[in-house]
Amino acid sequence: MLCAVRCRHAFETVCVHANGDVVCSILDGRGDFVLGNVHEQSVGEIFHGPRYLELRRLVLSTADTYCRAIGKHCPLKTTAVAPGEEVTAPDIRFLQVEPTTACDLRCLSCPVRDFDRSIGWRDAYRDGGVAFMAWDATRRLKQHGVDALRQHLPRLIPTVTPDSSRTAAAFLRGRVPRSRTGTLPLETLRRVLDDVGSAVERVDFYNYGEPFLYRHLVAGLRHARRVLPRATLAISTDGLQVRPPVEDEIVDERLLDWLIFSIDGSDRESYARYRIRGDFQKGIDNLARVRKKAEGSGLKVVWQYVVFSWNDRDSHLRRAIEMAGDIAVPIWFDFARSTWGRSRRTRAGLEYLIPFLKPETDLPTWN
Ligand code: SF4
Repeated sequence: MLCAVRCRHAFETVCVHANGDVVCSILDGRGDFVLGNVHEQSVGEIFHGPRYLELRRLVLSTADTYCRAIGKHCPLKTTAVAPGEEVTAPDIRFLQVEPTTACDLRCLSCPVRDFDRSIGWRDAYRDGGVAFMAWDATRRLKQHGVDALRQHLPRLIPTVTPDSSRTAAAFLRGRVPRSRTGTLPLETLRRVLDDVGSAVERVDFYNYGEPFLYRHLVAGLRHARRVLPRATLAISTDGLQVRPPVEDEIVDERLLDWLIFSIDGSDRESYARYRIRGDFQKGIDNLARVRKKAEGSGLKVVWQYVVFSWNDRDSHLRRAIEMAGDIAVPIWFDFARSTWGRSRRTRAGLEYLIPFLKPETDLPTWN
């Protein structure tokens, strides 16, 4: 018998976008199924409100990994549901906050490229070459076409809803709305942290955008520590905006438990294919410096390496492991799935990576 699956996020997570919209998780980066807005309601009201109930109903309405809320298959829908199980949502356990959508990079296939309307097809060619431009243009043309047709023929091109068929959901998705971008005012961030409840176990201060570009970062982290003293606080960063005195305050006051540097490559070439506008050596230097400062502080500093087709040779991977050893930083490898440039490597021959995989991930089994 087919075992139904659900995610945990619809039942225990609140993800606040920089414009105040609440969604289920990082999986709804476009903001397709908005659950409420923290400028209008408290997070508690939103989490216990009718829209979350609808989200949970939608998640449980399909037995496979397809999520009707966003009209896509969801890699987070992996928790088995026992027959007849009543899934309740008493408390918020995880809070994800996107302080700002501003970013210093424009990584290939990152949704931030869609938020920033100044990035067009010429940039796609410049950043990723002909093949990426073709992939990106196909996607964008479809979205533009849907928006234009919907404007002129609204009855013929309906808005995507949870009741749309899977095919319609895939083809009728328009562009990301302009309202998706923003920066959370400090007062709003403080109110979210005050309201979220003491059951919160972890606060992720990142989603899309670069958290170290948020000028209230230290004030926000201080407030989180004060009102949620038992919660684990984490940031994932591209590492290029990490600098004193912010890093000193974070380390000295122990404002974070985890600081994850996303550096996808082991030399300038393998890194620059995806991290457009990035600087490999600067990222590594910042990582090494902060790791040294954090020694003995309790702050865990990690190098995260997402594996794509251009940085997946054994020479790349082994070099990264060696470099991480040289600067005494733990390294986590994570394999990009179902996106532009994903690695075609199979499990065979990659077993040496097993001790270095990102927690709760595995070697590729889908190629
Ligand atoms: S299954 Fe749906 S609600 Fe749950 S995390 Fe995925 S997209 Fe969000």
